[in-house]
Amino acid sequence: MNREELIKHLKKEGYLKTKTVENAFLKVPRENFVRDKDKDFAYYDQPLPIGYRQTISAPHMVAIMTEFLEPKKTDIVLEIGGGSGYQAAILSKLVKNIYTIEFQKELIEFAKKNLNKAGCKNVEVFHGDGSKGYKKAAPYDKIIITCAVSEINEELVKQLKEGGIIIAPVGSGYLQILTIGKKKNGKLKTESYFSCVFVPMRH
Ligand code: SAH
Repeated sequence: MNREELIKHLKKEGYLKTKTVENAFLKVPRENFVRDKDKDFAYYDQPLPIGYRQTISAPHMVAIMTEFLEPKKTDIVLEIGGGSGYQAAILSKLVKNIYTIEFQKELIEFAKKNLNKAGCKNVEVFHGDGSKGYKKAAPYDKIIITCAVSEINEELVKQLKEGGIIIAPVGSGYLQILTIGKKKNGKLKTESYFSCVFVPMRH
């Protein structure tokens, strides 16, 4: 499969819904975000290992999460779990700024290098534990968590703007529920969608 064929598949299955998100997928070379030995598999709709027992998410999951975030050109976004930088790269074509926190130190350089190659200048990659968000750049229009969390904690809700959207795989163990929250009157209203599999958040 090549990039165009992957996009056709994501549209056919209903994962890609809007032209804007589709264009972001067209612009970002996924082969830049996987290890050299995996480049031949970059356009299969599957997660791939990126070392340190972590993975780059499957394209359909990136499409689903990106569409749920309803990205806007003015948005300031926090990503928790930067990994390869691919999800941040897709968002970078759709929003104003992204701050992405990654726990695994060795992945920071990998993500930075990948984002640089893809010409993503509006992404800042940080090393740290993102379980309590990243206060310095808060509040955010959108927060995306790409590792599994047991709950969406209050500190994250605090760092979300009124009307903001947060998306996270919520659950313990190796099966979670993709959960979307919208902040209304200072409170998070959540909806659960379907089961998914993410690596657990570490501390
Ligand atoms: N969004 C990534 C995929 C992330 S995989 C991509 O597009 O490639 C989940 C990532 O979350 C892993 O890289 C893992 O190291 C990271 N992670 C785990 N616990 C974390 C924490 N407490 N804070 C920040 N990142 C964390």
